[in-house]
Amino acid sequence: MATESPAQAVLDGGDTGWLEEFYRDLHRHPELSHQEHRTASKVAERLGEWGFEKHTGVGGTGVIGLLRNGSGPTVLLRADMDALPVREATGLPYASTATTGGDPPTPVMHACGHDVHVTCLLGAAQLLAEGTGHWSGTVIALFQPAEETADGARGMVEDGLRSVIPAPDVALAQHVLPLPAGRLATGSGPVLAAADSVRITVHGSGGHGSMPHTTIDPVVVAAMIVVRLQTVVAREVPPGEQVVLTVGSVQAGTKSNVIPDTAVLELNIRTYGEQIRTQVLDAIDRIVRAECAASRCPKEPEFEMFARFPLTENDHDVTERVTGALREHFGADQVGDMGRWSASEDFGELPAAFDAPSTFWALGGIDPDLFERAAREGRVAQDVPGNHSAKFAPVPQPTLDAGTRALVVAALACLSAGADR
Ligand code: ZN
Ligand code: ZN
Repeated sequence: MATESPAQAVLDGGDTGWLEEFYRDLHRHPELSHQEHRTASKVAERLGEWGFEKHTGVGGTGVIGLLRNGSGPTVLLRADMDALPVREATGLPYASTATTGGDPPTPVMHACGHDVHVTCLLGAAQLLAEGTGHWSGTVIALFQPAEETADGARGMVEDGLRSVIPAPDVALAQHVLPLPAGRLATGSGPVLAAADSVRITVHGSGGHGSMPHTTIDPVVVAAMIVVRLQTVVAREVPPGEQVVLTVGSVQAGTKSNVIPDTAVLELNIRTYGEQIRTQVLDAIDRIVRAECAASRCPKEPEFEMFARFPLTENDHDVTERVTGALREHFGADQVGDMGRWSASEDFGELPAAFDAPSTFWALGGIDPDLFERAAREGRVAQDVPGNHSAKFAPVPQPTLDAGTRALVVAALACLSAGADR
């Protein structure tokens, strides 16, 4: 005789009043990638309270809660746990003052909102565990380390994730982004970019700054490469294609009158498709080698790839189903189109390990008044601190509430209905 939806019944079923304080505690105690020990133990402690089968230490600090509740689909929900080496400047009463033990110590801050993700997934895990009468299937709550270093999800897969959990039929995740708190955004296809970082070492031949003719100056080679690389996006990539190529670091030399032997460049590349990604990486290789040849470099340049993130590509059917459920629950005006973000994520490694479809959506975290004002003045980019900023300050509510509900609603859209319906 139930008139409310299973999602509403599950959401009404548990007391998640503790989440806000839990969030503030996590925010005060951020941990860098691969060091999420305190966070992981807090997560594991909670999962145990609700009867999840627990797996800890997967891929380092990864924690998994498994809840089998009869026949039906297996749904994986993922949160990332790590923070960033940023000195917090939000001025919040619960701001982080944490540092690592080094000399000098490195400041640490949840500047990407992963504390929001952890809190919301724990809230959803509690509600799903306490509402098992309203759904059937298997829920996997997965808390991964080291998203920021691009190797946390892969680390869990390489540490035997496939033998720890059953293969999910669908994988779901969310990220807090600079949108109004309480709002969500979804989208089909590529929503976050693939990212590649390349370290390039150019070999010249050093000598006295007063006798450049006796040297091969790698500073000049590096400068030519930086300029010439600007033509990749401007002149080689089709105008409709979104690509970013940034030279984020150039290092060479120690002194004004010494021509060094080498120069090292670090590049970051964002693309939205495998074909264009290969085209851009090939163009970089070609230009760097050609500039080195043009300058008579004595040795071929060296290329080292690092911090590689896969494309975050949302499955069409899963996205439609989840978006429909979110719109029904939150109201269509609260669930917008995500578009494409140039940020990157390693979430895609998890569904890829099981060849499972997935969807990843955006969760707004910005004070709605602040956002509205900035939007009216066309100053969102300037006035709303975004992820990785020392001033990134998601408001706890309605962010946590919306994020928790979104996970429950999306999970239930993919699980089977319970026996009571
Ligand atoms: Zn981040
Ligand atoms: Zn992040």
